[in-house]
Amino acid sequence: MNNNNNDYINNDIYPEWASYTLGVFICLKCSGIHRNLPELSRVKSLQMGHWEETQVKFLAQHGNLVARGTYEALVPAYYYQPNQADCQVLREQWIRAKYERQEFSSPEQKLPYSNGQREGTLWKRGRDQAQYHPCRFLLSERDSCLKYFSKQDSREPKMTIQVDRINANFQPEKTGQAHGLQLTFLQDNRTRNLFVYHPDGKEIVDWFNSIRFVQLHYLKVAFPKARDDELRDRLTCSFLKEGYMEKRGPGRRWFTLDRRRLMYFKDPLDAFAKGEVFIGSREHGYDIRRGLPPGVPQGHGTWQHGLTLVTPDRHYLFACEMESEQNDWFSTFSRVIEKPMTPQDHASEHKGIRLSHVGGHSLNPHFTDEVTEAQRS
Ligand SMILES: [Zn+2]
Repeated sequence: MNNNNNDYINNDIYPEWASYTLGVFICLKCSGIHRNLPELSRVKSLQMGHWEETQVKFLAQHGNLVARGTYEALVPAYYYQPNQADCQVLREQWIRAKYERQEFSSPEQKLPYSNGQREGTLWKRGRDQAQYHPCRFLLSERDSCLKYFSKQDSREPKMTIQVDRINANFQPEKTGQAHGLQLTFLQDNRTRNLFVYHPDGKEIVDWFNSIRFVQLHYLKVAFPKARDDELRDRLTCSFLKEGYMEKRGPGRRWFTLDRRRLMYFKDPLDAFAKGEVFIGSREHGYDIRRGLPPGVPQGHGTWQHGLTLVTPDRHYLFACEMESEQNDWFSTFSRVIEKPMTPQDHASEHKGIRLSHVGGHSLNPHFTDEVTEAQRS
């Protein structure tokens, strides 16, 4: 069959299935979502299904490129288009947005995440306890911030977060919430996490895209000459890697690598990072090496697969439990270090990572480390 599309070059790498009512090739994961929308889509396996001649013809005449021209004609630059690695709620809402709600087919469609203001309830995980409580959230394009209120009728927000400092990541596994969203941002020079969810998948994905809408607007004001597709790369971004490593001194820590910032936490769902390290490029003196420097004892740790992160200031020594984890971290760190630094990266190195630092006062959240702090005291 004619694979005349670029959809699964980006989205679906292994299109083993097809929808014979929409005329598109899809992957196994997406076929499960299509199956739940029988009014819209009927799916069959390319290999195993029995194909009528008319269905084959229909598929040949349509295909993903044609479908894209119809259903994805007007996807806004800020709208997050999920790929195979993304979680179920993102992929399902993308499919529903395209085919069921047809949000991107006609210019008259009013998109619920593009009016610059959004208000509603999100369930927020308590800072020190595992329960989630409903909180009123308010996102404002005019103020470029996201606020939340601890009580439904509170006048004063409990917290006000600048949108340009937020990174939003769906975290169903880590949080145990299928619609769990992690908001990471700088607050008082410290990295802070908020974990929220909404029981309705559309609501949480709309919140996510609303944040991206407001972020893009903020960047367009800051960089009026930049194109939308250049700015898009600086909206929310998926964490490059997360997982446990041992750190000399405190022992096991949960590490999160977000663009060029390595943060570590005692527990994956902690509100505050214990410390963070900026990771620049090789030409600026950063490096990653397998193993620990000769003569260094394993410390308090028990894990054997060492990594040495070299920064201009000092060496950070980590250890992974498994060799496969060591390999994963090594290649992820390497990719970051091989990438040349942008002007924004340089600003981040000194001022903490934000989407931009235009109009910002010197934030100066010096990258912190719990060991150095402990040694100081
Ligand atoms: Zn797919």
